[in-house]
Amino acid sequence: MQPTVCVIGGGIVGVCSALYLQRAGFKVTLIESGEVGEGASFGNAGNISPGAVVPYLIPGIWREAPGWLMNPEGPLAVRPGYFLKALPWLMTAVKSATEEAAWKTSRAMRDLHGGTLEAYEAITRGTEAEGLIVLSGQLYVSEKPESAQGSELSQRMRAEAGLKTQVLDSMEIRELEPSLAPIFKSGLLLPNNGRCKNPHHLVKALAASAVRNGATILRGKVTGFQKQGRGVQAVLVDGQPQVVERVVIAAGAASGELTAALGTKIPVEAERGYHITIADSGVAPRMPVTHTDAKFACSPMNVGLRIAGTAEFGGLNGEPNWQRAELLKAQALRMFPGLRLDKVTRWSGSRPSLPDGLPALGKAPQFDNAYFAFGNSHFGMSAGSVMGKTVAEVVAGQKPGIDITPFSPGRFVS
Ligand SMILES: Cc1cc2nc3c(=O)[nH]c(=O)nc-3n(C[C@H](O)[C@H](O)[C@H](O)COP(=O)(O)OP(=O)(O)OC[C@H]3O[C@@H](n4cnc5c(N)ncnc54)[C@H](O)[C@@H]3O)c2cc1C
Repeated sequence: MQPTVCVIGGGIVGVCSALYLQRAGFKVTLIESGEVGEGASFGNAGNISPGAVVPYLIPGIWREAPGWLMNPEGPLAVRPGYFLKALPWLMTAVKSATEEAAWKTSRAMRDLHGGTLEAYEAITRGTEAEGLIVLSGQLYVSEKPESAQGSELSQRMRAEAGLKTQVLDSMEIRELEPSLAPIFKSGLLLPNNGRCKNPHHLVKALAASAVRNGATILRGKVTGFQKQGRGVQAVLVDGQPQVVERVVIAAGAASGELTAALGTKIPVEAERGYHITIADSGVAPRMPVTHTDAKFACSPMNVGLRIAGTAEFGGLNGEPNWQRAELLKAQALRMFPGLRLDKVTRWSGSRPSLPDGLPALGKAPQFDNAYFAFGNSHFGMSAGSVMGKTVAEVVAGQKPGIDITPFSPGRFVS
């Protein structure tokens, strides 16, 4: 009999998990409460970054963060009334911003992101998803001299990871991306990073591929589990038991309540972001460009130019603040003076974020047939393929291809 596994969540991590679990010999049921690919994986900036080795939580961030919070146009926001709820998470995050912790995070990020393009290649080849991820390079720009490279620590992290980088002056930035306004004084090119032309299509195409390989997609919300001893016997889908042999929780920002039902509290915050996508924008950067001062990304997609950013804490079920998306229009226009803003759509979604900047990846501490794969925060598109590959290795009882110790799901349990 073919062994079976149930994956909860049809975002990029869930579908990559499903495909790699199939490769490991499992029959997969994917449970999704909404539509596949319409969580955070729908509207991100599509940066696929094997070179993402610089954590957000690095020394110095807490000097900058109060300024960001005070500025209504800043990249960081806590919604009124949510500050006290977010406080424990923020306090743990403060502890993660030491140099020692940041180095550990950086090395774990290198392991998790470094093989992303190859891991995507293996599951997209010969499917409708083939060609949606391309090696384009990524450009970071700043309006301040020598700032696009980030801190001296960031530069050392990229150097230790062996990343190819190129520092650019204002002339070189304009040569590379002539549509950019002449306001940028420093740039950093990461030629070995890539982009996804359409994250939503990618997730849909990967899910379709899993179905062709024999997966079943079940529509419904997982509300709890039936358990006995160290085993999960069934997941409750809209209250109805669905018997399982193994279960993988890959439910993005909603994963915390599911892991808590399995006895492991993991502090997952919903870190809301926004995008606008501009069809017929009149400008066509050849690669994603990130404004490192204002902290938003501009990515060419097959549906238009996407401008994405903001980290807003307001709870998983908080209402979006659409002024944030409006702000992106003004910021984008400053960056690309030739931009036409006639055909704009907007979106908001929640990144699944843990306060040490790393995901939960591995076996559930209190159950022998439950596994966690979520929490990739700003880097879930970059990590999705390797998250899926690695969780499949763990479920299959194989030695994972990367060191998963830093991602231990039990690390927040004292
Ligand atoms: C504005 C923005 C820009 C970003 N840009 C980038 C980028 O350029 N590069 C990058 O690498 N990352 C980026 N990210 C981060 C990335 O989008 C996320 O980390 C990633 O999409 C998370 O994927 P996921 O599969 O874990 O979660 P999701 O895509 O949110 O999927 C989780 C799924 O689980 C389902 N679900 C939840 N609860 C249940 C339940 N109880 N029962 C059944 N189903 C359930 C949800 O409906 C959802 O479909 C960005 C994020 C944002 C918001």
